[in-house]
Parts: sequence; structure tokens; C-alpha cells
Amino acid sequence: MPITVQCPQCKKTVEWNSDFPFKPFCSERCKLIDLGDWASEKHAIPVKPEFDPQLLDELGFDEEHFFKE
Ligand SMILES: [Zn+2]
Repeated sequence: MPITVQCPQCKKTVEWNSDFPFKPFCSERCKLIDLGDWASEKHAIPVKPEFDPQLLDELGFDEEHFFKE
């Protein structure tokens, strides 16, 4: 059974795999939309950090938040 992740931008459920290029988003489009929203709303921080599951894990980030059964 594949692991799936819900795109935070459009809520579409997509299959997660180790080399999925746009995670946690379903596509480059959603990723860019999110980056654009982020840039326009968070002027204090001009660049969104690269999404890095390993780093998040080190920070104690709850990765299950992104997973859907
Ligand atoms: Zn999406």
C-alpha cells in the first residue's frame, strides 16, 4: 500500500515516494503558489526554507501531520 500525502495547497491526495520532487505538494504549480502566498504574506522572511523531511525530523516535527491513510 503506497504512502500518500495531502497537498497543503489544493488538498489533493498524491502518492509519496522518496524522490518526489515537489513534496509536500502534488505538483510544481502548487509549490510555486504556496511560495508566492508565503512571500506576499510574510515579508519579514523573504525566502521560505527548503522543505527537508530529515531536518524537520531532527526538529521533532510531526511528519504524520502530512500523511493520510
Ligand atoms: Zn496540489
